[in-house]
Amino acid sequence: MKIAVEGCAHGELDKIYECVETLQERENIKIDLLICCGDFQSVRNNDDLRAMAVPEKYQNICTFYKYYSGEKMAPVLTIFIGGNHEASNYLQELPYGGWVAPNIYYLGRAGVVRFGNLRIGGLSGIYKGHDYLQGLWECPPYTQSSLRSVYHIRALDVYRLSQIREKVQVMLSHDWPRGITSYGDKNNLLRRKPFLREDIESNQLGSPPAEKLLNTLKPQYWFAAHLHCQFAALVKHENDEETKFLALDKCLPKRRHLQILDLPSDYDGDKLLKYDVEWLAVLKNTNHLLSVKNINCHMPGPGGNERYDFTPTFDEKQAIEKTFEKLTISNDMFVKTAPIYNPSTPKRIPTEPINNPQTLYLCENLGIDDPIQVVMARSGRSMKTIVADSNNVEVEVTPIKCAKLTLPAPVTPSENNSQEISQENSVFTPENSFLSESGNNTSDCTTPPSATKKIFKRRNLALYTPEENEQVSETSKSPMDSGSPRSSKLPCRYNEL
Ligand SMILES: [Zn+2]
Ligand SMILES: [Zn+2]
Repeated sequence: MKIAVEGCAHGELDKIYECVETLQERENIKIDLLICCGDFQSVRNNDDLRAMAVPEKYQNICTFYKYYSGEKMAPVLTIFIGGNHEASNYLQELPYGGWVAPNIYYLGRAGVVRFGNLRIGGLSGIYKGHDYLQGLWECPPYTQSSLRSVYHIRALDVYRLSQIREKVQVMLSHDWPRGITSYGDKNNLLRRKPFLREDIESNQLGSPPAEKLLNTLKPQYWFAAHLHCQFAALVKHENDEETKFLALDKCLPKRRHLQILDLPSDYDGDKLLKYDVEWLAVLKNTNHLLSVKNINCHMPGPGGNERYDFTPTFDEKQAIEKTFEKLTISNDMFVKTAPIYNPSTPKRIPTEPINNPQTLYLCENLGIDDPIQVVMARSGRSMKTIVADSNNVEVEVTPIKCAKLTLPAPVTPSENNSQEISQENSVFTPENSFLSESGNNTSDCTTPPSATKKIFKRRNLALYTPEENEQVSETSKSPMDSGSPRSSKLPCRYNEL
């Protein structure tokens, strides 16, 4: 099995697929899967541009829209995680993953899927300590603040991934696991990116939850992006296990942004994309932990008196297999939920979240909640359900029954975001690079459903009912939280384009 891994995509799908096709011809290989590590920019139309956290001058439609509209077809199955430059309104429709275009699959806020016999997990977004413990309260229309916090990693998603016990071979995160620079050629990295020195030396570079997951899940491979430079590392765990880490650049000429991973044929299986039973069971087991409140909420851990181990039992996994007749995630589940790109329409701020039938399907089958439906229900707003045919999208308002749910408008936490962009070219000469053992497999890019109507069902109404004095227990702190600064308001220097 051959997998191409891309760093940040930044909407450049035409170029990335060109690179993949050039590589296939040049090396006479067939690439089975393309993985993108965030900043994917699944922008369908002008409205989506307004849901993306980039300055107006960078609000460029790029090329994803062609794959959404059907003008082009992704030549290779593509899966991706979210980064910090995304059409967040679209990704919020698919919190548990789904097709954003035919053959292009989003892993969700966090997720594990199977491709053949290979398990691939991912964590979307970037880490910001001050939002880590918050509920999933963001909802279009975004404020300047929620436009950014919407892509900040939350403890619930990390907690869910930490329940996984079966081996995950490939893990993805957008920002780097904290401390990873100690396991590779740090000096070489600092020569190329001297502005990282202070953060590396104070161990502030990267994501603490990703670091914990790397040490818990011990995947064979961990790929990341975000800092727009290539960096390889090798983390040795106990029992002779190791994780090969590789950060990739973004898609630009002469940048090292694409890596070919050649895996043994044992992983081939049927080479189909499938739901992962253990992951679905974790989602089901932890649904009651979902909070959409804009307050800190801790995950359960040892010392409290509630369940804190949600690793599915044999029976729980069997129940999932019974529920899902087939685990294959087929392309025909893709549904357009917004109009295709029309250059002459003005950019309007997306005002309403949309019910995506793919999310409805998963929520119905698993008996879990769509976070944004809960946000809407709590504020007494109606959720729109799409009624779409091939190119026309009609929207229908679905009433939500939410008798008791009224809440004051969310208080949006502020964020300081002074950003600098570092774009210098980088030359990677790995001294320790195990990844280059097999030759030149990092590439420089030298070439350019039917109508659905659902009524929202709240499954755990009591959990979402706002109380007068909402308090969060400080005593039952998750082991995943312990190393996470509560309020590390670092200037976001690496938010890049
Ligand atoms: Zn990024
Ligand atoms: Zn990027």
